[in-house]
Amino acid sequence: MKTRPGICNHKKRFGSRSEAEYVAGRAPFTLRAYCCDLCKQFHLTSRTKGMKTPRAEMPRARGD
Ligand SMILES: [Zn+2]
Repeated sequence: MKTRPGICNHKKRFGSRSEAEYVAGRAPFTLRAYCCDLCKQFHLTSRTKGMKTPRAEMPRARGD
């Protein structure tokens, strides 16, 4: 996954994958933790590879 600087700066950062996945697991929708190439920390994304959310609308609460 390509990470744009603006996205990195905007998103919440986690110091470890386990921390990010813990938060992801508590969300009411699917979130994935991924390692960011820019800051070398972890972010959460609502985008899942090869999977499209059934709902057309994007979830609003993304931990931003
Ligand atoms: Zn980042």
